Amino acid sequence: MLDPQSTVFISDIHLSAQDSALQNLFIDFLQGPASFAERIYILGDLFDVWVGKDIQPEFHDKISEIFSQLTAKGIPLYFMVGNRDFLIQSSFLKKANLQKLSDPTLITLHGIPTILTHGDKLCTQDIAYQRYRLVAQNPITRFLFLCLPKSLREKIARKLRLKSKLHQQKQTITILDVVQNAVDDMMNRYGVTQMIHGHVHRPNIHSFDLGKKAAKRLVLGDWHSMVSFIISTPTENCLATYEPSKGIQKIASYALEGAR
Ligand code: MN
Repeated sequence: MLDPQSTVFISDIHLSAQDSALQNLFIDFLQGPASFAERIYILGDLFDVWVGKDIQPEFHDKISEIFSQLTAKGIPLYFMVGNRDFLIQSSFLKKANLQKLSDPTLITLHGIPTILTHGDKLCTQDIAYQRYRLVAQNPITRFLFLCLPKSLREKIARKLRLKSKLHQQKQTITILDVVQNAVDDMMNRYGVTQMIHGHVHRPNIHSFDLGKKAAKRLVLGDWHSMVSFIISTPTENCLATYEPSKGIQKIASYALEGAR
């Protein structure tokens, strides 16, 4: 099992009331490997979509119950919104015992200053998306949207998903990926050499030079039949997968001593 000093990171789970297999995987992971972690960070897109606490509240309750079991064990849970669940309401976060983080957030991870972000802010080549994000995530738009009737909110959400799918099919892979300049800018702004994010669904550990310093960018994957997660211990940062039948499998890692 996990080192007792492990910090676990996950993102892009895309939970929905319809996908019970994914819900089961989520429960299995949180009650299994993740229950040995010292703390857990969820870096956005926990839900496939969030358009109001009044839509499938039983499903939301089921998820918050799993989180509450972990906090009852003394495991702090941190949550940052993603582009799919940015409308998530504080009543859910409170019920689930999730401590909200702003995007980006600077933490010290086993002594190393590390910037955490969902990742969509780094996709600066996707001008159409950035323009949409600015409007959609504006507090006034957010407030007005949540005042709309339930059926209308659901309808708008379906339309936006369809539009986003078409947009993603039309764009090239590079436009939908993060832009290295945006990564460098954010890391320089916070004076860090380590970054963790999700969103792009391309799990990897990137090593690169940031000015004269060696830097690392850890990218979480999305979840399908398996969990994508990062385990950070005092000696190693590791990108891994988890499946109930196969357990934890390491994808990539680096040692923290001598890594920088
Ligand atoms: Mn995302």
